[in-house]
Amino acid sequence: MKSFDVVIIGGGPGGIYTSILTKQLGKTVALIQDEQESLGGVCLNRGCMPTKSLLKAATAYRYAKQAAKYGLNITAPPIDLSQLRAVTDEDLEKLRFGIQGMIDGAGIPVFRGRGAFKSAHEIIITKADGDSELIRGEQIVIATGSHPAELPFATFDGTHILSSDQLLKNKVLPEKLLILGGGAIGCEFATMYHTFGSDVCLVEAQESLMPREDRDAGLKLKELFEAQGIKVMTGTTIKSLTIENGKVKVAYSNSSETDTVDKVLVGIGRKANTNGLNLEAAGVATEQGTISVNTFMQTSVPHIYALGDAIGGLMLSHAAEKEAAVLALNMLSPNSHPLEESAVPRVAFCSPEIAAVGVSKVTDGIKAFTMHQVPNGRSVVDKVPPAFVKMFIEENSRVVAGAIIIGEAATEMIHEMALAVENRLTVEQIGKTVHVHPAHSKNIAIAAHQINC
Ligand SMILES: Cc1cc2nc3c(=O)[nH]c(=O)nc-3n(C[C@H](O)[C@H](O)[C@H](O)COP(=O)(O)OP(=O)(O)OC[C@H]3O[C@@H](n4cnc5c(N)ncnc54)[C@H](O)[C@@H]3O)c2cc1C
Repeated sequence: MKSFDVVIIGGGPGGIYTSILTKQLGKTVALIQDEQESLGGVCLNRGCMPTKSLLKAATAYRYAKQAAKYGLNITAPPIDLSQLRAVTDEDLEKLRFGIQGMIDGAGIPVFRGRGAFKSAHEIIITKADGDSELIRGEQIVIATGSHPAELPFATFDGTHILSSDQLLKNKVLPEKLLILGGGAIGCEFATMYHTFGSDVCLVEAQESLMPREDRDAGLKLKELFEAQGIKVMTGTTIKSLTIENGKVKVAYSNSSETDTVDKVLVGIGRKANTNGLNLEAAGVATEQGTISVNTFMQTSVPHIYALGDAIGGLMLSHAAEKEAAVLALNMLSPNSHPLEESAVPRVAFCSPEIAAVGVSKVTDGIKAFTMHQVPNGRSVVDKVPPAFVKMFIEENSRVVAGAIIIGEAATEMIHEMALAVENRLTVEQIGKTVHVHPAHSKNIAIAAHQINC
């Protein structure tokens, strides 16, 4: 039986990053990845990267459709989804090649198959053809990711009721698309399909979009979506979805309104991949289907660690990478580095983009400041709404405790706020930093100056 210092189950961002870091720390490392998917996990194959590739196409198409605004005489014919998918596939191939090269270059063996615990130190890897191999890990990392959550009353059928995985494979533009869930996934698909030409209705059970974030920002995003022609129904839940004559009939719980749509995207959340891991054989505890870890990323079994979507929480690739960095250090020196995720940005690449970091609520000692949305030079020439900037400030120290931004390039602008939260910078320090003219980020500096008043 082959034996390694560290065995990692799952080759998504969390597993890949852990394997590279632990290898750099001098450990012998093995990575196990299901044969169904290339290295890179959901992020590369079914998540971050295909959506960002398609959203880029949507941005280009939006510019073409709105060319007259920029003094250009261009007509934009209807899009061909299969052509866009082909370009996305090319992007993904380049990324797959890059990741495989990085893992090969680091000399990390990849075992293809499904990993499951045989005991607390042994993992059995089963291939699709039934072959299996047993390997041993002194330390083990569970990085198995997550899958889309289903509605209890309407399971995925791949044709009418779809998960994000399934909608990404779809090559025909639905005339009417209903999206359930106003979180990051729902908002990104709403932008994508609305821009491509579908009639989109976005339904969210809570009162505002991006419901885990600041309410004002969620309401602002709703307003901006509606101004573009996306129908947004907040505070709304679905009673039933019935397939009739090739369409989906929608009944709402708290409204007498009914609707008929071509497809429904269920984007209500994701569930950790724990099935088939045989966690009982190792004694790893779960809570509501998610792997429980302590602040040092250890499961209930001290030499078994877990991270990424498998432990719930932020469920973002860069959060998984942050967890990998903390986990690797704790593996080297147990209980040395507690996880601190308050400075991990939370984002949706819809249009306009929305990005947040740190605290998202006013509490004792934390006050909020929302900048009056004034156009700046950049927003005027770009012909986009000016950035919405809200900051959460510690009253006594004037340290930036959190921020949320909506607007063009918000997912880039948020890094300045992440730097502030991570390093406990004050609004004065942000305000005195020179911001480029003309840049959307200038609204951050203006906001910081206004808080100084
Ligand atoms: C539509 C969509 C868009 C997204 N966009 C973004 C974004 O823009 N930015 C962002 O930060 N995040 C985004 N995410 C979230 C991001 O994809 C995840 O947070 C990230 O992929 C989690 O990484 P992970 O390593 O925990 O797991 P995963 O990426 O899920 O990888 C786990 C891997 O383990 C494999 N596996 C599972 N079980 C086993 C087993 N028993 N044996 C062997 N292999 C196994 C799986 O096949 C998978 O390949 C998006 C997600 C979706 C669905």
